[in-house]
Amino acid sequence: MNEVKVAAAGVLDDPAMTDGMIEAVVAHEMGHWADPESAASIKRSVIVTYSCISLGVLVAIGIAVGTGVVDNNTLMLMFLAVGAGYGCSIALSPFLHWKDEYFADRFAAESTSPDTVVSLMKHFRAQESRFAPLFTFANHPSRTRRIRRIELDSITDSEQQTATGDRGRPLPPQ
Ligand SMILES: [Zn+2]
Repeated sequence: MNEVKVAAAGVLDDPAMTDGMIEAVVAHEMGHWADPESAASIKRSVIVTYSCISLGVLVAIGIAVGTGVVDNNTLMLMFLAVGAGYGCSIALSPFLHWKDEYFADRFAAESTSPDTVVSLMKHFRAQESRFAPLFTFANHPSRTRRIRRIELDSITDSEQQTATGDRGRPLPPQ
């Protein structure tokens, strides 16, 4: 039996959180563990981040070598190049992380219900500040996108069920 710790005081003990919503939070985390691609995607994100930053550093070194001087201006350019490299890796995060988040949401929707996960997202969205999506951009798609994706998935699933007569559910994780 795995022990699930969701360290979020003031979140799980919020009276507005129903048991179903708490289950959905746990199911989302379990969805990350169940994701067969998660190890590969962590590796990919580390590689991309370092490549972006080293590309920035290489450009800066190129400038220093090209101009033949290392002064405050060159150092400033190097600093900017490293920052730009880091910025580029953040900008790429939708391609690096979001697939995993959608996978975990889908897992949660299948192990609880799409409605439960959607109500959880709406609950969090109602609480978050207007700028929260900017800060969480690197790790998670916005709640609105996630709600839309869950709703789309459940529509596609029910269409498949009527088409094949199959429940269409993946096997539970071992
Ligand atoms: Zn997640």
